[in-house]
Amino acid sequence: MELMKLTALELGEKIKAKEISVREALDAVSAAKEKTDAKVNAYTDFDKELSDKEADRIQKLIDAGDSKSPLAGVPIGIKDNISTKGMLTTCASKILTGYKPAFDATAVSKVRDAGMVVTGKLNMDEFAMGSTSETSVYGPVKNPWDTGKVPGGSSGGAAAAVAACEAVVTLGSDTGGSIRQPASYCGVTGFKPSYGAVSRYGLIAYASSLDQIGPIAKDVRDCAAVMDVISGGDVNDSTSNAAFASGAEGVNENGFLASLNGDVKGLKVGVPAECFGEGVDPKVEESVKGMIKELESAGAVAVPISLDFIRFAVPTYYIIATAEASSNLSRFDGVKYGYRAKEADSIDDLFINSRSEGFGGEVKKRIMLGTFVLSSGYYDAYYNKALKMKQMIMDGFAGAFGNCDVIVCPTAPMTAPKIGESLSDPMKMYLSDIFTVSLNLAGLPGLSVPCGFDAQNMPIGAQIIGPAGGDLKVLNAGHAFQLATDHHKKFPEVG
Ligand code: GLN
Repeated sequence: MELMKLTALELGEKIKAKEISVREALDAVSAAKEKTDAKVNAYTDFDKELSDKEADRIQKLIDAGDSKSPLAGVPIGIKDNISTKGMLTTCASKILTGYKPAFDATAVSKVRDAGMVVTGKLNMDEFAMGSTSETSVYGPVKNPWDTGKVPGGSSGGAAAAVAACEAVVTLGSDTGGSIRQPASYCGVTGFKPSYGAVSRYGLIAYASSLDQIGPIAKDVRDCAAVMDVISGGDVNDSTSNAAFASGAEGVNENGFLASLNGDVKGLKVGVPAECFGEGVDPKVEESVKGMIKELESAGAVAVPISLDFIRFAVPTYYIIATAEASSNLSRFDGVKYGYRAKEADSIDDLFINSRSEGFGGEVKKRIMLGTFVLSSGYYDAYYNKALKMKQMIMDGFAGAFGNCDVIVCPTAPMTAPKIGESLSDPMKMYLSDIFTVSLNLAGLPGLSVPCGFDAQNMPIGAQIIGPAGGDLKVLNAGHAFQLATDHHKKFPEVG
C-alpha cells in the first residue's frame, strides 16, 4: 500500500507524469479502505460508482491538458457535514438518515473544479458536537495508533482516515477545534483557516459565527495546496472574504503553496505562560517546547507572552456555540429532510417525535442549553455576557500579536483518551478544548502539526496560531518545522 503513503502533492505529480492513472489512485484508496476501515470506522459512506465516473471524467481532462491544479486526479474524502451532491450527507445523525443534497458545498465544487475526486464521507461526532467522535450514529471512530482510544473530534473520521492511510487528504470542519484536535490525536496535520477564508455554503451549520472548513493532510504543503483550491469569496456566503483567494491582493497574492519557503528568520514566536504547566501532560509540554526550540534553531525568536483571558474561552464558547446551534438545528423537524417519526397525531407531535427520536443525547443537551441561554430572563446573564467575553478575547489576542507574529502552544493538553472515558466525564471533555476554542471565538487561523509521541506511542500535536488573515505565516512556520523534523512522516500499524 506504498501509494497510500504518498502526500496528495506527490500523488498529483505521479498522475500528471502518467506514472499512475486517476483510476489507479482511486482504487488504491478503495483497497486501503477495504483493508483497514473495519478497524477504524472512519467512513460513513464510500461511493465507488460515482467516484469511478468522476475519475474517468477527470482523466480525460488531464489527458487533454485541461486540468492544471497540482491536485488534479487526487482522491479526497469529505466530512459528513459538508454537502455533496447526490451523496449521503448525514452529520452522522439519525435525523438526516438517507439525506442526499441536491447541491455541492462551495468547498466541494471547488475541489471538483480542481480535478480532485470525491471518494466518500467521513465519520464524526453527531452534528460536529464533541471532541471524541463517539456520538456518531454509525458508532465510534477508532484511533489508528491505538484502536482502544478515540481519534479526537469532531472530525475524527477525517483525521483517522489520513493517519491510517485510507484517505490521501480530507476536508473537515472546525467550530472549536474539530480539525486541529483530531489532527493532533491522530498525528496528522490539520488547518483551521481564518474565519471567512473558506466559504461555509453547504457546510451544515453548527455555530455559524465559529464554523470553518479546512484541510486535514499528511503535511503542511498538502494543507496549503488544498487551501489554494478552496479559499476565497463566495456570493453564497456573505461572511466569506475574496482576499483569501489564491492570487488576490493582500492575504494570498502568490498562492499559499507557492509562498511556503520555510524561512522563519526573525519570526517572533509567542509562548503563552498559561498554556504550559498545570493541567498539561508533561510529555505534551516537552514535545511542544521541543518544537519551539526547533523553530529557534531555524532563526525564529521565542518571546514569552500572556493569554490570561484563555480561562474564559471554554464557558464563552459553550454559550455561544450552543445558542447558535439551538437556532441552526431548528430546521430539522421531520418534514424537510431525513428522518420522520412513524407515530404522530398532530403536526406538533410530528416535530416533537421526529426530533426526540432523531437527535442523539449530546445534540439534545446542547439544543436545550442553547435555548436556555437565549431565553428572555437569561439572555443578558449568559448570551450577552458571552458576546462581551468574545470581544475581550478578540482584543486580548490583538494585544498579544502586538508582541509576536505567531503563537505556539499545545493543540490539546493531553493525548487521546480511551474510548468511553470522556463521555462518562463530559466536563473534562469540554475543558480539554481550552487551547482550541478561543481561536474560533476570535476568528483566527490555527494549525496543528505532529511534534512527538508520548510514552504509549500516541501522537502529540502543537498548535501554531496567527492573527486574522495571517494564514500564510502560520502555514509557513509549520512548514519550517516539518522541513527540519519527521514526526509527520510516521504511520501507525493499524491493529
Ligand atoms: N469540541 C467542540 C465542541 O464540542 C468543538 C467541536 C467542533 O469544532 N465542531 O463543540
